[in-house]
Amino acid sequence: MEITKVLVLGAGTMGNGIAHVFAQTGYDVVLVDAFEDALKRGIATIEKNLGRMVKKGKMEESQVAEILGKINGTTNLADGADAQLVIEAVTENKELKFKIFKDIDDTVNDDAILATNTSTISITEIAAQTKRPEKVIGMHFMNPVPMMKLVEIIRGLQTTDEVYELIRSTSENLRKIPVLANDYPGFIANRILMPLINEACFAVMEGVGTVDAVDEVAKLGLAHPMGPLFLADLIGLDTTLSIMEVLHADLGDPKYRPCPLLKKVVAAGNYGRKTGKGFYDYSGEAPAPVHF
Ligand code: NAD
Repeated sequence: MEITKVLVLGAGTMGNGIAHVFAQTGYDVVLVDAFEDALKRGIATIEKNLGRMVKKGKMEESQVAEILGKINGTTNLADGADAQLVIEAVTENKELKFKIFKDIDDTVNDDAILATNTSTISITEIAAQTKRPEKVIGMHFMNPVPMMKLVEIIRGLQTTDEVYELIRSTSENLRKIPVLANDYPGFIANRILMPLINEACFAVMEGVGTVDAVDEVAKLGLAHPMGPLFLADLIGLDTTLSIMEVLHADLGDPKYRPCPLLKKVVAAGNYGRKTGKGFYDYSGEAPAPVHF
């Protein structure tokens, strides 16, 4: 099967980046979000990011219109019914994803491959919601999608070799580097990253260091390109908390219990960059660390 048309579901932090890279590498994209304003924000972000590439001299102005012309934004899932590949990138919530996979399965062509960008939820369980579990796979992009090279590919228990090979070669067509992971909570990337972020939250909560002290130590002492709390704001604190909750519930080890400070910040509606405040406040010229 040749993949020429891709349905991306969810136009948030990840979905708009995924739509961007597919369109940039020549695929037709249908970008679907349940909410009109989220869809508009997603498309505006793609435009802004493409504009940035032009400014940096990495792309011609004329290419921008061509790439945007390949993306059809809509709130109607059925507009992408003839896509050969679906990538689901909606909010990290098990019940929501299960329901959405049932809807997608009922809507798109029977031979389409259904991929999920989930950070932690079992691919095998998601696949079990559909009548085509052998065609369901994890295609875990990293944030920001246009910049990050890795695609973690996760095979569910029933994913066929053929589907895996097609997704591997598609990732390479996107000029990304695929790495195979097994289907256990958090796969590889988040199994390593999320406990680090969660521990950084504990360090702030227990007064070991302030937000900026923790991030400075990680940058200057551990050579991380950005601190874990700054990264958590970029990922989204709601997403970060959901991932910790899945690691905790599904691995059953108390070492994964989500930090109470993280829970409190999320309860306040401060999800990081996407809401303007998290461990940093983004209302000023430069991000300002929040004092807890
Ligand atoms: P987000 O909150 O930025 O965006 C989610 C989008 O889904 C929103 O635009 C929302 O309107 C939309 N949505 C909600 N319900 C919907 C529905 N029923 N139908 C269609 N759209 C719906 O979240 P995100 O950070 O983009 O995360 C999306 C997925 O990607 C999650 O599974 C997350 O775990 C995963 N992921 C996130 C990151 C990250 O750094 N943020 C990295 C890798 C993977």
